[in-house]
Amino acid sequence: MAGDCIFCKIAAGEIPAKFRYKDDEIIAFDDLDPQAPQHILIVPRKHIRTTLDLTTADNELIGHVYQVAGKLAHDLGFAQDGFRVVNNCNEGGGQSVWHIHFHLLGGRDMVWPPG
Ligand code: AMP
Repeated sequence: MAGDCIFCKIAAGEIPAKFRYKDDEIIAFDDLDPQAPQHILIVPRKHIRTTLDLTTADNELIGHVYQVAGKLAHDLGFAQDGFRVVNNCNEGGGQSVWHIHFHLLGGRDMVWPPG
């Protein structure tokens, strides 16, 4: 755990969140500033700063993130209509929290190209 990391604190139960999923490896909770009717953050418990800090040791973990994204989309009823999984990397990519996370967005049509 990184001491000043907000997502580590949510994982440790020190900051409240509306959880949608939890296991030993990842947590998922509603984004505070939703960009779609359903906007869930899927966050590994392990403190990894950005996508650029992933190693081969994390391959299974990231595969698990995508499995959970699909399960949540299915369980919340927007899998068939379509959804998006987004990872922002570094400031130019829109990253603002320095603990890797994946935005699961659903409940509306998505546009392309993204902003
Ligand atoms: P990013 O900009 O890709 O790093 O995404 C960070 C996301 O974390 C943003 O969508 C924020 O709205 C969200 N966020 C920040 N703090 C919290 C919090 N305490 N609970 C839920 N979502 C948060």
